[in-house]
Amino acid sequence: MNPYLDDDLEAIAAQARRFAEARIAPGYLERDRTRVLDRTLMAELGALGLIAPELPEWAGGQGLPTRAAGVIHEAIARADLSMSYVNLLASLNGQILVQHARRELAAPWLARMTAGTALVAIALTEPRGGSDAANLRLKVERRGDAYVIDGEKSSISAADQADAVIVFGRTGPVDSGARGITALLVPTDTPGLTRSRFDCHGQRAIGRGSLFFDGVRVPADHRLGDENQGFAQVMQGFDYSRALIGLQVLAVARAALDETWTHVATREAFGQALSSFQGVSHPLAELDTQVEAARLLCLQTLWLKDRGAPHGAEAAMCKWWAPKLAYDTIHQCLLLHGHGGYDRGPMEQRLRDVLGFEIGDGTAQIMKTVIARRRAGRSAVPI
Ligand SMILES: Cc1cc2nc3c(=O)[nH]c(=O)nc-3n(C[C@H](O)[C@H](O)[C@H](O)COP(=O)(O)OP(=O)(O)OC[C@H]3O[C@@H](n4cnc5c(N)ncnc54)[C@H](O)[C@@H]3O)c2cc1C
Repeated sequence: MNPYLDDDLEAIAAQARRFAEARIAPGYLERDRTRVLDRTLMAELGALGLIAPELPEWAGGQGLPTRAAGVIHEAIARADLSMSYVNLLASLNGQILVQHARRELAAPWLARMTAGTALVAIALTEPRGGSDAANLRLKVERRGDAYVIDGEKSSISAADQADAVIVFGRTGPVDSGARGITALLVPTDTPGLTRSRFDCHGQRAIGRGSLFFDGVRVPADHRLGDENQGFAQVMQGFDYSRALIGLQVLAVARAALDETWTHVATREAFGQALSSFQGVSHPLAELDTQVEAARLLCLQTLWLKDRGAPHGAEAAMCKWWAPKLAYDTIHQCLLLHGHGGYDRGPMEQRLRDVLGFEIGDGTAQIMKTVIARRRAGRSAVPI
C-alpha cells in the first residue's frame, strides 16, 4: 500500500495501465521510426478521461488530485515516454490556461486538449540558451488590440505537431530581465509562424524543433497573465511538470527493471542463473531501492501540491534526481541483457528516451540551484 495513493487512485492507475499495455506499448518501436504521435491513440486517451483529469470540470477535467495525473503519466510513460508527452503538455499547459487565460479563450482549447484532439506546446528556450531563461529575446510588441511577435524559439517539444504554443516573449526593454516578459497563446496556423523538426537522439515520436516568428499577430486577449509578468506568474507551473517528469522517467526505469529481474533469473552463465551472482543482483537491488525512493519523493511532491503546500524544492529534487537515476538504471539493465540489450529494441530506446529529460525542462545544475536558493536564499544564486 502506497501512503500517497488511495483505492480510487489505484483504480485509475490500473485502468491506465490496461489501456497502455493493450494500445500504446505495441507501437513503441514503430513510432520511434516514423517520428509521428498517433492522434487516434491521443483521442482514445481523451475519451477514457486519461488526459489531465486534475483540471476543473469547466476545463474538461474531473477535478481529481494531481496524483491521478501522476499515476496516469506513469502508466503511459511505461509503454511509451513520447506518448506520455500528451499527458504532460495537457497537465502543464492546461493548468497555465486555467490560471492565466481568459475563460472564453481557454475553455475551447482545454476541451480539445483533454479530449486528445489538440496538442499545446510550450516555448521558452531560444537559440542563445535555455538555462538563463529570464534573459530571453523574442520580441513581442503591443500594437493596438494585438501583439506582434518576431524572433525564434528553439528546442521546443512537439514544435511541428502542436496545434498551439504558449510563447514567452519580451515586451519590456532588452535588459528588463524577468520583469519584461509576457506569455501568449499562439495557434500554430497563425500567419507568419513557421516550424522545423530536429533529428533527436530519443523521444522521437514527439520530437523537438524550432519556431520562427515573422510578424506573427495575435489578438491582445490571447495574453496569459499580466503584461510583463509572464515569467513570475506563468513559470510557477513548472513545479508541477518537474514532479510529473520524475514519475514518467521512473516508470520507464521500472519497466526496464522488471524485465531485467526476469531476464537474470532465467538466463544462465557458468551453469547458474545470472541472478545467483551478486555482481549481477546487488547493483540491480540498489537501483530498485533508489527507483522506489525517488518515486515516493515525486508522489510526495504531488501530495504537497494537492494540499496547497509549498513544493518548489521537492519538485526540483524530482527533476534532477529521477532522470539521472532512470538513465543509470536502464544503462545497467541494458548491460545485463548482454549483446541483446545493445540491439535496436525497447531497452536501448528507453535509454535514449529518458536522457532527454536530463536536459529538457531544466538541467540538473539549474535544479540544484533552485534547491540551494530555497535553502540558502539569494546567496545561492549566481550573479
Ligand atoms: C528533450 C528536450 C525537450 C525540451 N523541450 C522543451 C520545450 O518543450 N520547451 C522549451 O522551451 N524548451 C525545451 N527544451 C530546452 C531545454 O529546456 C533547454 O535545453 C535547457 O533549459 C538547457 O538550455 P540549453 O540547452 O540552452 O543549455 P545552456 O543553457 O547553454 O547550458 C549548457 C550547460 O551549461 C550548464 N549551465 C548553464 N548555466 C549554469 C549555471 N549557472 N551553473 C551550472 N551550470 C550551468 C547547463 O546545466 C548545461 O549543462 C527541451 C530540451 C530537451 C533536450
